[in-house]
Amino acid sequence: MPADLLNADLHCHSNVSDGTLAPAVLAERAQARGVQLWALTDHDEIGGLHAARDAALAHGMAWLSGTEISVSFAGTTVHIVGLGFDIDDAALAAGLARTRGGREARAREMGAELAKVGIKDAYEGALRYVGNPQLISRTHFARHIVDSGVCDSTHEVFRRFLVEGKPGYVPTRWAGLGDAVRWITQAGGAAVIAHPGRYKLTPTEEYALFSEFVQHGGRGVEVVTGSHGEADFLKYADMAIEFDLWASRGSDFHAPGESRADLGSLPWLPGRLTPVWEAIGERVVRP
Ligand code: AMP
Ligand code: MN
Ligand code: MN
Ligand code: MN
Repeated sequence: MPADLLNADLHCHSNVSDGTLAPAVLAERAQARGVQLWALTDHDEIGGLHAARDAALAHGMAWLSGTEISVSFAGTTVHIVGLGFDIDDAALAAGLARTRGGREARAREMGAELAKVGIKDAYEGALRYVGNPQLISRTHFARHIVDSGVCDSTHEVFRRFLVEGKPGYVPTRWAGLGDAVRWITQAGGAAVIAHPGRYKLTPTEEYALFSEFVQHGGRGVEVVTGSHGEADFLKYADMAIEFDLWASRGSDFHAPGESRADLGSLPWLPGRLTPVWEAIGERVVRP
């Protein structure tokens, strides 16, 4: 079978970050939905990876280590996925710990900002949804805002609140692009630009992101993701070729009924690309 026709899902979240399911439950769901190669990519965290690997192998599914690092670039937030790194790498663990270190203070500030528009005790409310005290995110606030009746969906929350220019947004200084790429690369993994179609970058800034990413040693880009439409698949397939990047595929699944794409439910990678899982095949752990 051609490598581009592998049901690889290399982007999703557990309750170790802002997903709702435990790593082992995600592994079971992935396998049941036909995923053949799976990676858990929690935001700024690798705490779920031992459980993810054990469950993947128990379900007969090939597995890659993964994470999704928050990066500040050109005044906005960009996400860099790492795949196939050594999960015991100390420098990567330290970098991730530093990156998520500001989340607690940011969350308290978000709570204070939301209180100004009448949404009281949002910090305390968000905390009730948090699975990992080190990883409180906007998603936890969004779930609380939905359940308190202010919005009908988390998508509505991210239109009305928590984003730049809207109540509850608190600018944050994440990792540097070069740092994130280096942590992943020096741990033996491949750095991949996550869902590039989602960023509010000008064409010049986007070109700079890809150029600097490659200069730092970045190797891949997500072409097929739950965040991309047809036009993005084509655009980023072209960019993958232009910048000589491997192509990745991942749902970015967070929770049943909440995410646009469920595990394993994505179009195939365009055949003209080199799948990242083929390029780093030696890092894949097989059952
Ligand atoms: P944070 O890392 O705390 O800034 O939270 C970022 C997370 O919020 C993302 O990983 C998504 O899970 C979620 N998010 C951001 N924007 C949106 C959106 N427009 N719709 C749904 N979820 C979003
Ligand atoms: Mn998320
Ligand atoms: Mn992301
Ligand atoms: Mn994600």
